[in-house]
Amino acid sequence: MINIFKLSKDSIMKKVENAGFPAYRGKQLIDWIYNKSVFDVESMTNLDKEFKEYLINNIKFVTLETLKIIEDDKSETIKFLLLLGDRNTIEMVIMRYKDKDSSKNRNTLCLSSQVGCKVKCPFCATGTDGLVRNLKAEEIVQQVTIANSFLKKYDTKINNVVFMGMGEPFFNKDEVLKAASLIKENYEISSRKITISTSGVIEGIKELADKELKYVLAVSLHAPTDRIRDFLVPINKKYPLNELIKACRYYQTKTKKRITFEYIMINGMNIWPDDARQLANLLKGIDCHINGIPVNSVSDSEFERPKKKDIYSFKKMCEKYGLSFSIREEKGTDIEGACGQLKNKERK
Ligand code: SAH
Ligand code: SF4
Repeated sequence: MINIFKLSKDSIMKKVENAGFPAYRGKQLIDWIYNKSVFDVESMTNLDKEFKEYLINNIKFVTLETLKIIEDDKSETIKFLLLLGDRNTIEMVIMRYKDKDSSKNRNTLCLSSQVGCKVKCPFCATGTDGLVRNLKAEEIVQQVTIANSFLKKYDTKINNVVFMGMGEPFFNKDEVLKAASLIKENYEISSRKITISTSGVIEGIKELADKELKYVLAVSLHAPTDRIRDFLVPINKKYPLNELIKACRYYQTKTKKRITFEYIMINGMNIWPDDARQLANLLKGIDCHINGIPVNSVSDSEFERPKKKDIYSFKKMCEKYGLSFSIREEKGTDIEGACGQLKNKERK
């Protein structure tokens, strides 16, 4: 049995033809899955009995199950708890940005690449228990199918994908890059709309550069000095700032693409005037944008969200030094939208 979400459209066509069915059957199958978001063979009404039997006996369609969906009042943030075949659970979040002109609506899917994470950033709920296992490419791709299937009721689809859910994508690099390429091809989502967020795994950044893959690179920087970053992003001890920034410069020389730096904002920790100055120094000459993320407090944690005025004064200082800086829209905080939070709550 092969999982359908491992296959590109071309390989689906080949497989169907090799099994002795006409090409239009392959096209119908692709239409059910990728246009109609239907995965139950019995509901694929225009297929004949023989082809359905072949599919049921040879192809696996769904291995992820939806355990729970939490939708906020305005249905702007929809959070999913998903069950994997081996009973582990992961989360994903749909963020909907509605525009007056509905053709400009954006639906972003924040998906997971691992169960747990070994990086163990102290503010992050995902890292609490370390790494459980990597996701397979097909388990990553299937998250998009589940999201699209949910969005059918709003007559819309996912058009942006961010690897910002559970896990460090570059510690599962091969499956993540396989999944990203399948998402790009099968869902026709361009590389410019696929973001990979890394805590700073240098091999991953170099591979994007060397292969000239045009995904958007986001780096979770969070601090301008090794002293603070060693604490906030513990793999900084393995990949210190000077090497990380060197890799980012290499990436930019190769791809000419702008880099996003994520910067979690924590009260009393990393938003002092001196941090803004050092940050500007560190990033000098890199074409980049900084995404300030006011920290979401994970239950009884020591990490406190700064006051609004402190958040804005840090932004102003960074801008004064010439950095492009935006504050991430707060979505999902009321439904435990930060990665790993829902899962931990369910377990309790
Ligand atoms: N492991 C990768 C991608 C997943 S985390 C990485 O760290 O980049 C995606 C983003 O969510 C990261 O920038 C991370 O720092 C942020 N994040 C994690 N926990 C958070 C919290 N409690 N509040 C706000 N942002 C958080
Ligand atoms: Fe892992 Fe990212 Fe969470 Fe850090 S922030 S523990 S790298 S998922």
